[in-house]
Amino acid sequence: MDIRLQSVSHSYGETEVMRDITLDIPSGKIVCIVGPSGCGKSTLLRFIGGLEKPDQGDILQMGEPPRNCLNPLTYIFQDFALLPWRTVWGNISLVLEDHDIRGTRAKTIIQDVLTRTKLSDFAHALPKQLSGGMKQRVAIARALAVNPAVMLMDEPLSALDSQTRELLMDDLIALWTRTPFTAVYVTHNLAEAVRLGHSIVVLSRRPGQIREIVTIDKPLA
Ligand code: ADP
Ligand code: ADP
Repeated sequence: MDIRLQSVSHSYGETEVMRDITLDIPSGKIVCIVGPSGCGKSTLLRFIGGLEKPDQGDILQMGEPPRNCLNPLTYIFQDFALLPWRTVWGNISLVLEDHDIRGTRAKTIIQDVLTRTKLSDFAHALPKQLSGGMKQRVAIARALAVNPAVMLMDEPLSALDSQTRELLMDDLIALWTRTPFTAVYVTHNLAEAVRLGHSIVVLSRRPGQIREIVTIDKPLA
């Protein structure tokens, strides 16, 4: 589903953090948001995700109805946010249970996302038994399981070493190439944005305003 931010502005108390942001997030594309720390990238994701409302402006969900998506939006965070006492399988099955998906239907979905993220051999592992890169693949698998209209990714690779980051970028590109998803990907790392984004939105220092939007020629793979 296409999402449009229309003239979004916001202040926290006296502090103006965002000014007049108008932006389209096209269905099936990865839009990267870059800019200095504190320019409002995470705040923008919270607005898109509906966790918070901006002072001014609108977030519009346009066009086609969500294609059989269970969840309009899913977050992926820097710190993975896995439940430590649950296995890989258990972490994914939990979000499916939230959508009343259990039994064989859940099993089929979980097996599919574990295959796509190359985690089939780790279904019964606990998070502490996994490397950082694998934990983030679990978080990605969990996000894909609910077939979200938009994946909201906040610095998803920033906690990982550079070699793991490279591998995860390859994985994300392979996943997107097989089944294109819509994502808003926040990073302070320009190289990551260039590699992953179909477009890159560059925000200025606070108050965050759009300095430029760069379209990158893909295919990625
Ligand atoms: P970024 O993700 O680009 O680093 P943030 O969106 O986290 O930026 O924050 C933008 C600005 O808004 C920062 O100056 C931050 O301190 C401020 N800010 C973010 N959330 C809140 C809040 N809930 N209350 C007050 N100020 C906030
Ligand atoms: P926990 O709930 O402690 O995290 P598991 O994640 O191992 O435990 O299992 C949760 C449920 O999913 C169990 O009922 C289990 O039988 C089922 N399950 C776990 N892994 C698989 C698998 N690879 N294939 C089929 N069913 C599984």
